[in-house]
Amino acid sequence: MSNENAVRTETAQQSDDANTVLELVGIHKQFGGETVIENLDLSVREGELLTLLGPSGCGKTTTLRLIAGLEEPDGGEIRLRGDPVAGSGSFVAPEQRDVGIVFQEFALFPHKTAEENVAFGLHDLPEAEQKQRVDDLLDLVGLEAHRESYPDELSGGQQQRVALARSLAPEPQLLLLDEPFSNLDVDLRVEMREEVRRILKEAGVTAVSVTHDQEEAMSISDRVAVMHDGNLEQVGTPEQVFQHPESRFVASFLGHASFLSGRVQEDGILTPVGSIERDRVYGLSHEYDGADIDLLVRPDDVRAEPVPKSEANGQVMHRRFLGPSILYRVELGNGDVVGCMHNHDEEVPLNEPVAVELAADHELSWFPEGVRRVARDCTPGDD
Ligand code: ATP
Repeated sequence: MSNENAVRTETAQQSDDANTVLELVGIHKQFGGETVIENLDLSVREGELLTLLGPSGCGKTTTLRLIAGLEEPDGGEIRLRGDPVAGSGSFVAPEQRDVGIVFQEFALFPHKTAEENVAFGLHDLPEAEQKQRVDDLLDLVGLEAHRESYPDELSGGQQQRVALARSLAPEPQLLLLDEPFSNLDVDLRVEMREEVRRILKEAGVTAVSVTHDQEEAMSISDRVAVMHDGNLEQVGTPEQVFQHPESRFVASFLGHASFLSGRVQEDGILTPVGSIERDRVYGLSHEYDGADIDLLVRPDDVRAEPVPKSEANGQVMHRRFLGPSILYRVELGNGDVVGCMHNHDEEVPLNEPVAVELAADHELSWFPEGVRRVARDCTPGDD
């Protein structure tokens, strides 16, 4: 590395450290002798919204509770702006961490109005400042007209706005959101995702959210941290984790995933749907020449066309009507199974021969050949 590069790297590192609000270093947590969090490292930067995403029981809520101080780690250290708050002999009580929490069920005070709920954590401020801050927050969450309403007079989305405003009122250095949309109707959930992101960004707060819903995580977050069995599988922007998953688990958890077996040759990858040029495969070095790999294909990457048997490379085994689209499951000649997404009016007959071809014009991710069954089993919504 040249000196210039060394200096640049160091400067980037320093500014990165200065921007780090939360750090989890080597965190372990057990319950009754059972390890639920194992050697977890994570850092969250100033102003970002990071979502912990994973299936039920993977340890998301426990991680959030450790950050809040509602649980103590059995190993490792948690730091807020560089200061240890848990581990290595330190433990700062939850109320002294300057961390706000928005609970799943919002936990509003039922006998206080929206305005009084928001003002709850502001008693130390002089009255005029308190009023100004409440006004600003009600304005931020779009609830000026409902300031006198009690929680049971507000819709789910409005209650969530009050809960957010109340948590933001004391200007916490970090805001935690526990499954923030799980108490809302499906339609409202989508609307509130955009609203919550807007509010957090306008407030400029650093936030960590928890969900098992991959679409929600990808639509609201700056970065997503995918958890599996108490471990962090991958951390990255929604685009990075979706387009370039680093494990089959991440590939499958973030959306429907099929794996196409291929043999790497000098000029392309030989697959059951034909040869795929090398430059269409992400980061494949010549080190893998001659190796067997599995290419990740999403349902919109492939198409199945009905053809005479002599021209076919597969057969349609299953059809799932999804409204705007139809998901066909096709078994290829070598036994690989791929999901193909078609428009709702494109009928492909069941049990008939088809030619599957690659329609994707983006780079495909790949994995060294291995057990594919595990990944298919955890594809959300797969039959
Ligand atoms: P969900 O999405 O279902 O809430 P999660 O990913 O948030 O799941 P956690 O609630 O963190 O998962 O739980 C992780 C594991 O730890 C689970 O196996 C759970 O049963 C266990 N666990 C969590 N809290 C406790 C506790 N207080 N005592 C014993 N076991 C616990």
